Amino acid sequence: MKNKGILFVMSGPSGTGKGTICAKLLENKENDVFLSVSSTTREIRKDEIDGVTYNYTTVDKFKNMIDNGEMLEYAVYSGNYYGTPKKAVENILDEGRNVLLEIEPQGALKVKAIFPEAVLMFIVPPSMKELKKRLAERGRETDEQIKERLEAARWEFEQARKYNYIFVNDSLDECVSEIEETMRGKVQAKSLVDKLLTEQYL
Ligand code: 5GP
Repeated sequence: MKNKGILFVMSGPSGTGKGTICAKLLENKENDVFLSVSSTTREIRKDEIDGVTYNYTTVDKFKNMIDNGEMLEYAVYSGNYYGTPKKAVENILDEGRNVLLEIEPQGALKVKAIFPEAVLMFIVPPSMKELKKRLAERGRETDEQIKERLEAARWEFEQARKYNYIFVNDSLDECVSEIEETMRGKVQAKSLVDKLLTEQYL
């Protein structure tokens, strides 16, 4: 049987720079990781691409996907549904390739319950003050939405304790290097263990 890939899960409050970090991780082909495209009922933003950033859908269609068992996990965040497609993730893992999910903690913890070997990574900003500043500066959300996201951040920080790794995004490049080193270590360890387990029966 072919060895399965590793499931990496990344979370962190809105404004911590997860999106930029994920883009950098994908850019570096040596990381050999595929990003799963989630479905959401949130409105598309002007810098986003349907089918690439998210698969944008309606609440009815999203609920249908839940009822049909098509979601590995899903959560409601800031009044919108977000969910991970089950089949796509399982197919990539079955091919022995590694998958990266960029999802919030409710979903991440559900994934950990289904795949206990998943590697959970949490990104924190250097301070709460810095998080507020970053959210305000990027100008994507209204003041009301920023307030909601900061309230969500409080709960999200509490969940960080349940993650396997916590990274501080102070300097972006340093943070990305630390994450890459951790991911590489996991991949190397897994391939060695897989090899040893095969050799055991030779
Ligand atoms: P945004 O609206 O800023 O793109 O995303 C809001 C939050 O939803 C982020 O914390 C993001 O990580 C999370 N998210 C994105 N996709 C998924 C998903 O498929 N499942 C879950 N549980 N959260 C998601």
